[in-house]
Amino acid sequence: MERAILVLKPKEDLRLRAGHPWVYDNEIARVEGQPEAGAEVEVRDARGLPVGVAFFNPKSKIRARIYSRAIRPADAVFFKEAIGASLAWRRRFFDPDKQSVRAVFAEADGLPGLMVDSFVEKASGRRFLTVQFLTLGMDARKELVVETLRGLLPSAGIAERSDAPVRAFEGLESVTGTLHGTVPPSILIGENGLAFAVDLLGGQKTGWFLDQRSNRAAAARHAVDPSTEKGRRVLDTFCNAGGFGLACLAAGAESLVAVDSQANAVADFAANAERNGFADRVAAVEANAFDYLRSLERKHERFGLIILDPPAFAKNRASLDGAHRGYKDINMRALKLLEPGGVLVTCSCSHWFDRERFATMLEEAAADAGKRLRIVEERTQDLDHPIVTGYGESRYLKCVIAEAI
Ligand code: SAH
Repeated sequence: MERAILVLKPKEDLRLRAGHPWVYDNEIARVEGQPEAGAEVEVRDARGLPVGVAFFNPKSKIRARIYSRAIRPADAVFFKEAIGASLAWRRRFFDPDKQSVRAVFAEADGLPGLMVDSFVEKASGRRFLTVQFLTLGMDARKELVVETLRGLLPSAGIAERSDAPVRAFEGLESVTGTLHGTVPPSILIGENGLAFAVDLLGGQKTGWFLDQRSNRAAAARHAVDPSTEKGRRVLDTFCNAGGFGLACLAAGAESLVAVDSQANAVADFAANAERNGFADRVAAVEANAFDYLRSLERKHERFGLIILDPPAFAKNRASLDGAHRGYKDINMRALKLLEPGGVLVTCSCSHWFDRERFATMLEEAAADAGKRLRIVEERTQDLDHPIVTGYGESRYLKCVIAEAI
């Protein structure tokens, strides 16, 4: 097959050679040949030296996404090796036959636009996959991907969850459905010793936020006040289906107030509380967390452990200042609600809002709340969402655990 060639402007190869996989439209000096949408193209620097092979998309500002540094076709052998390497990394830290894991994390695993979550049903041990094709290049290779996944990660069913808004930037429509086998609307998975329902076909994103698994366990280590040995009163804001708060109850917290603005998240939370036997220790609240934190402050409520796990407030560079105000507001309010010695678990899943900004924001929030904090842990996403150098986007989750002193 004759591949078209993208020749870069001088120096535009440096970022790519450091590991970044995206070639932007304004970095290209010229295109030799007439590549079709989704086709493989060879990327060369201004001197004509090869940088890698990429998937081409004439409709996206990200004109090409590198899938290999060695010049090779994106064929069955490539997908078997790349997905196989992703799985090998997971197997070092998890048991994907027993545990739910993110099996492929797109660009961070060298597979641009491909997200695969693997969910293991607690009772039966059956595996189900949810797959997102987020880029044109990957979307065009759907059959090959599904075939490879069926070989390397056998499952009872594969659900397609290509309903993420970023598809629009690639000129793709939103698609959901079943790609293989049968997919039940919902299954129960195990995490931190509890059972959680995962809505495979209709839940947020790919059904369950696996990236927070170990942070939930870390939060739960503060469920009991070490000085009194009494279970703490916990507030889980942006609770979604309750992964944080319920892990805290299981670890000995006294009670839990869980807040989310989405009615279906609140219902999922309540159902998960019930199925784990915690119905009498929880309050499920449907509210805007900003307003709700303010109302708790007015009522002089106090909590021993507070979790803040908001959606990404910064979706691009332009929204950083607004995001800063948003994060600071909820952190400051949460800190005011903390009892002396209480613990705050505060997260941001926006890579734009980096660790330095997050640390500054927390300093300001603490100063405004009149609280001093002692940092217990600075954490990030779990290892099935790998962080790789050269691709800063892969380092996205911040989770700081701090206690009021
Ligand atoms: N903590 C959850 C994941 C949170 S995802 C877990 O461990 O799985 C972010 C959640 O915030 C979503 O469920 C979303 O519905 C909710 N959300 C978004 N904006 C909100 C707001 N202003 N107030 C309360 N909840 C909000």
